[in-house]
Amino acid sequence: MDLSKLNEVLKDEPSYRQKQAQKAVFQDLADNWMQVQTLPIELRKELKKSCPLKIDFQASVSQDEKVIKGLITLKDGLKVETVLMKHGDNRNTVCVSSQVGCPLGCVFCATGNIGFKRSLSIYEIVEQVLFFARYLKSKGPARSGFARQTRRLESRGLATSDAGGERITNVVFMGMGEPFLNYDNVLGAIRILNDEERFNLGARHFSISTVGIIEGIEKFSQEKLQVNLAISLHAPDDKLRSEIMPINKKYSVKEVLKAVDEYIKKTKRRVMFEYVMIKDVNDTDECAKELAKLVKKPLYFVNLILYNPTGIFKSSEPARIKRFKEILEKYGVPVTQRYRFGKDLKAACGQLAGK
Ligand code: SAH
Ligand code: SF4
Repeated sequence: MDLSKLNEVLKDEPSYRQKQAQKAVFQDLADNWMQVQTLPIELRKELKKSCPLKIDFQASVSQDEKVIKGLITLKDGLKVETVLMKHGDNRNTVCVSSQVGCPLGCVFCATGNIGFKRSLSIYEIVEQVLFFARYLKSKGPARSGFARQTRRLESRGLATSDAGGERITNVVFMGMGEPFLNYDNVLGAIRILNDEERFNLGARHFSISTVGIIEGIEKFSQEKLQVNLAISLHAPDDKLRSEIMPINKKYSVKEVLKAVDEYIKKTKRRVMFEYVMIKDVNDTDECAKELAKLVKKPLYFVNLILYNPTGIFKSSEPARIKRFKEILEKYGVPVTQRYRFGKDLKAACGQLAGK
């Protein structure tokens, strides 16, 4: 798929044609221009040539069919991973990547370990969401060409273009890469996906997870967008944080929290602090107490993440996590715990390595 020339191809067309084309791509989720019958055949041919809709992917489905991983091959041959989590109550979250690899090299993260290739364009980010939107619309598991089933029904007149299937309800930037090192394209993708005339997903349904790139947090505070912000903290002090997240040497815990405080002052929005529970590294009672003192502030909350082992480290035992959580709660810090999705597929947070 390559939509980078979409505006250029449509620029001399009347505005209703632009709307028809946008509707075809983002609402009807067309995967072939030739089927977009609202458009004249010449324009369809031109769009097919300049803005192909076909997505080059390999998909794998977890045993419980709740997690689907897509490996998308980009125009230059690089591959990027994206994950769909079906929560079972009509909530469907896509975990999108913002870069191929990541330059920040957090020691516990598989993406960090493969190094950095490049940042994704706006439409390469959008493509990941459209990929799963098409999948959900077609309902069938992604075994082979998952749109076929729906199309067959359509051709028999048994289904309308948006019949059946579920919708994507949430988009989280927790795949490969650091979103605030690709700020403009991440925000550009959110604007397209949020646009009422395009994908029309409400701003509150997006979350950006960052290690705490200060300039990014500052810029994000000015956006007047109700997109959620999450900070990967993972350690309560600079010494430990720098050991596991080298970027902490540039942006210290104190500086990150100062930027978050400014963000909260401007936006009045809650901020989630992600804390991945790594056995014997950051899961002691002392860490919990230190963390509690650090984040006991209005509109702060902590999300404890089960660590998905990628090599050196192990995940904390359930009893340790329980104790850690209790300490935070005793200090009055709101805590949530994230369920582990997609482990059997290597599709969980920090496991994406584009293989
Ligand atoms: N680069 C951004 C967003 C992508 S990572 C960031 O780091 O915030 C999304 C989340 O998964 C981050 O909180 C990250 O620290 C966490 N993560 C990385 N490796 C992990 C692993 N092996 N197990 C569980 N979480 C992991
Ligand atoms: Fe990059 Fe996030 Fe992985 Fe760190 S945790 S290496 S910032 S993707």
